[in-house]
Amino acid sequence: MEKNIIEIFSSIQGEGKYVGCRQVFMRFEGCNVHCRYCDTENRPGMHENCQVETVPGSHRFELVKNPLSTEQVREIVAKMLREVPHQAVSFTGGEPLLHAEFIQSIAKGLGTKIFLETNGTLYESLGKVIGDVDIISMDIKLPSIVGEPLWEAHRRFLEIARQKDLYVKIVVSEETESKEFQQAIELLEKTAPEALLIIQPVTPCGGCKAASPKKVLDCQAYALRHLKDVRVIPQTHKMIGQM
Ligand code: SF4
Repeated sequence: MEKNIIEIFSSIQGEGKYVGCRQVFMRFEGCNVHCRYCDTENRPGMHENCQVETVPGSHRFELVKNPLSTEQVREIVAKMLREVPHQAVSFTGGEPLLHAEFIQSIAKGLGTKIFLETNGTLYESLGKVIGDVDIISMDIKLPSIVGEPLWEAHRRFLEIARQKDLYVKIVVSEETESKEFQQAIELLEKTAPEALLIIQPVTPCGGCKAASPKKVLDCQAYALRHLKDVRVIPQTHKMIGQM
């Protein structure tokens, strides 16, 4: 099996429950939704080469011709894990679950946790890899960000994901409407009330405006009335110049 991979590198997890943990990141091409604030060039076929960090955390890269085989990827990741202990290998994108079988064939036997960073919509693909995944960082995408409601896909995704170490992220911008935020909380309360919720104030991009401090705290206050653990964490890696 072969896939185009955008990059493989070692850095800190900058978002969510495991913020600050050292992880190997593997970024796939392709996504099935279109967020206004997306900062990743992930169109399929746009990456002739995969950027592979030569020494973990060095920010020095070699170009490896795409597509990469599962054997090549396993070898690259295993080398990074040997050189520096990592908390997990993170599959990100784009949307990693567009490549469920590829992930399955890499994940087995790596000897570290498998972390899935997903937009939380491809529940059938999640069902295929759930046995190989340890941690799931799932977004709930609000209609004002993606231009359409995705509630039913999120609900079905949550039902499967909750059997693992799951946390849910909602990106909040100044444009976020109370009604859609409340609908997301209602979905979580009904489907996976035990899940940690991260409110992530948007890093302004693509015309999205930063949420005001009041808006962020109002959202957290509302969520805390329905869920037991709700934290506000921005994208920290961007503050300290990490990838
Ligand atoms: S889900 Fe992620 S990769 Fe896809 S458009 Fe949104 S931010 Fe970009």
